[in-house]
Amino acid sequence: MRVQNPIHMPELPEVEVTRLSFASRITGARIVSMRMGKPLRWPLGLAPEALVSCQVTGVRRRGKYLLLDLDTGLLLIHLGMSGSLNFSELQGPEGPHDHMDLVTTQGVLRLHDPRRFGAVVWSPSEHAPQAVKLLGHLGVEPLGDAFELAPFQAGLKRRNSPIKQVLLAGDVVVGVGNIYASEALFLSGIRPTTKAAKLNKPRVAQLHQAIREVLARAVAKGGSSLRDFVSAEGKNGYFQLEASVYGRAGLPCRVCASPVKQMVQGQRSTFFCPTCQKY
Ligand SMILES: [Zn+2]
Repeated sequence: MRVQNPIHMPELPEVEVTRLSFASRITGARIVSMRMGKPLRWPLGLAPEALVSCQVTGVRRRGKYLLLDLDTGLLLIHLGMSGSLNFSELQGPEGPHDHMDLVTTQGVLRLHDPRRFGAVVWSPSEHAPQAVKLLGHLGVEPLGDAFELAPFQAGLKRRNSPIKQVLLAGDVVVGVGNIYASEALFLSGIRPTTKAAKLNKPRVAQLHQAIREVLARAVAKGGSSLRDFVSAEGKNGYFQLEASVYGRAGLPCRVCASPVKQMVQGQRSTFFCPTCQKY
């Protein structure tokens, strides 16, 4: 079986850090022109010229989607496997991997995406089919107030799959990707293969806390390291430097010194400490 390399893929913290990097600077701007490059994962859904003179009213995030609110409709932006966004007053000439330039009165938002699994999709509203198709199935936001312990417990009780895969599925809680699922399970002492429904309440409470902690810490760190992330282009990101288990197969556990183990779950690499993660 081919194991996916632990390459850098934008996860929720990077998307949130990206949002914070340009949301206030683009808000209020009017669209002057829009250039789309090679086809992305999904088509834009309307002619780019139709967006000229629309005003950007804000930038929100839902899971790993950025929602660029316009006075009419919104743009849903996903960074896919290798995408990054840069907002700057002036951009240089576009390179072969720059597939969107959104030129506004306050700067140019550029999408750089070598593998083109990213997407920019227009929807007339958040409740229109175009948006519902992408956002409708997403679970609760792990960094928001709605991520409460009781519904999280109830959500896990209904699932008989391994906890790691339930976290990645995104319908109980959204945006906990491969790296942060591995890290949160380590912090809460849970084996990635344990069935979600088998976890007892105190253990789920620890996991709930750990998910918030690893994501919030990554967002906080990203704020000062955004440049590293944007220029990462497939290399390990700043956030992996301090990982407890992710990407550390064979290296000593930072808590007990046992070698960290790697296995494959649902074609994704999972890393865990066999000594610290017994539940
Ligand atoms: Zn350990």
